[in-house]
Amino acid sequence: MADLNVAYRNFLASLSGRRKGPKVAAPRFRSRKDNRQAIRFTKNARFKVLDNGRLRLPKIGDVPVRWSRPLPAEPTSVTVIRDAADRYFASFVVRTTNDVLPPSDSAMGIDLGLTHFAVLSDGTKVAAPKFLRRAARKLSQLHRALSRKTKGSNRRRKAAVKVARAHARVADTRRDWQHKLSTSIIRDNQAVYVEDLCVAGLGRTRLAKSVHDAGWASFTEMLEYKAALYGRTFARVDRYFPSTRMCSDCGRINDKLMLDVRSWECPCGSTHDRDINAAKNIKAAGQADFNDRGAQVRPAAMPAPRGEAVTHPHAVCSTHSVEGISVRQGGEDVKGPSSSRVRRAVP
Ligand SMILES: [Zn+2]
Repeated sequence: MADLNVAYRNFLASLSGRRKGPKVAAPRFRSRKDNRQAIRFTKNARFKVLDNGRLRLPKIGDVPVRWSRPLPAEPTSVTVIRDAADRYFASFVVRTTNDVLPPSDSAMGIDLGLTHFAVLSDGTKVAAPKFLRRAARKLSQLHRALSRKTKGSNRRRKAAVKVARAHARVADTRRDWQHKLSTSIIRDNQAVYVEDLCVAGLGRTRLAKSVHDAGWASFTEMLEYKAALYGRTFARVDRYFPSTRMCSDCGRINDKLMLDVRSWECPCGSTHDRDINAAKNIKAAGQADFNDRGAQVRPAAMPAPRGEAVTHPHAVCSTHSVEGISVRQGGEDVKGPSSSRVRRAVP
């Protein structure tokens, strides 16, 4: 009921123009075919984490929990989710204090791309793991099996769970890989700058599958909330400037590069790797931006990690395009200060 109230408030505020950002649609009824179920217990509902590691829920009883990490503080609410793959999760809302890491004096620019997942300004190239592509055969096999089953049948329901499980496995592998990469980048750098890609815009193009498989959006969100958590600076640099063809040594803007040109030489004498040069320019632009404002480029409000948040950040996009890549404009919604969600697996 509380969620419905918020949904209507957002919708009506959007109608009257009080709410910024894209229009918010009227709340929808939940689908009967949707296999995801969730229930939230607040403090008033008297849920309790017991000393023996079980979770006591009203009317349900004591549930054994496989904790993914210890709770940093007393939770204010818990949401129990059953996903399409028939797995149960308990997600707690906890107030956290940030564990600020010792300061480091390095900064990093990151160029996200399709040939490499990320190219860092220090010259590191991170290959793109193609989780979805790799699992595609198995997935299409399962999808075919599903489509052969009679609608509404028990076998169809079981086949649907199998498909969901396979998809969940892909998502889990990707998330795990991204967590490892984002944590190491944030740990080693005081400031991290990423170009502002419009993922929602690119996702509608021919490259859609590769774009979604890369998962830049969830990756940059991880960088953002981890930066806030560990006292680092994170900023998105917008792509109005030609990061690819500008020389990172002399600042000269050279001729437009064809997509297959991987390295080039500037009249000033320096030879550049296309992507590393772009990453260096992103870093420089981020630092310039940071110095201009003399403070943190973005307020340190911490968004809940994607996939763990109840509200989805809405993608605000324009189709403004520089060198074939659209630019995201406007911000996304950010959850309240230091309220983060911690997700746990319940067997
Ligand atoms: Zn040059």
